[in-house]
Amino acid sequence: FVLNALAARIDAVRELAESWASRSIVVGAAIVHKGRLLAQQRSYPAPDAGRWELPGGRVEPGEDEPTAVVRECWEELAVEVRPTGRVGTDVPLNNGMLLRIHAAELADPAAIPKAVEHNEVRWVTADELTDLDWLDADQVLVHSLRQLLTNT
Ligand code: C5P
Repeated sequence: FVLNALAARIDAVRELAESWASRSIVVGAAIVHKGRLLAQQRSYPAPDAGRWELPGGRVEPGEDEPTAVVRECWEELAVEVRPTGRVGTDVPLNNGMLLRIHAAELADPAAIPKAVEHNEVRWVTADELTDLDWLDADQVLVHSLRQLLTNT
């Protein structure tokens, strides 16, 4: 009886682990330049308009995460970035996906990111991070982003 109960528990844990692992990944880019982090202000949908987020989006099938980071930053900011490694923890999103942040730098340090589909793009210092009204998921990462800025 004890062994059966244990086996059932193990199955439950395995199921949970598999459902977690199979969540789609949304990558976000923590682009750091001259000690500042790039944040962008959403223009849509209405509930999110005016709130701030890191650039990013869904990893497409067959794409690895760094490639998705580069593609999304090109689409949203019209600049090329180089991903340098993960930052912080995975954050579950309301839609069942997981937000995973990669640090990145500008491939061309003189390039100027543009708000292609956002209201505004802003370079923020470590101290300014908490001034912004971040999306809920991004808000969870502010502490890790502050560390990233103060360690670089
Ligand atoms: O851009 P895309 O629609 O692929 O993003 C998928 C989801 O990830 C959206 O719900 C978006 O709000 C969320 N997201 C987020 N924080 C980011 C980037 C995306 O919460 N920095």
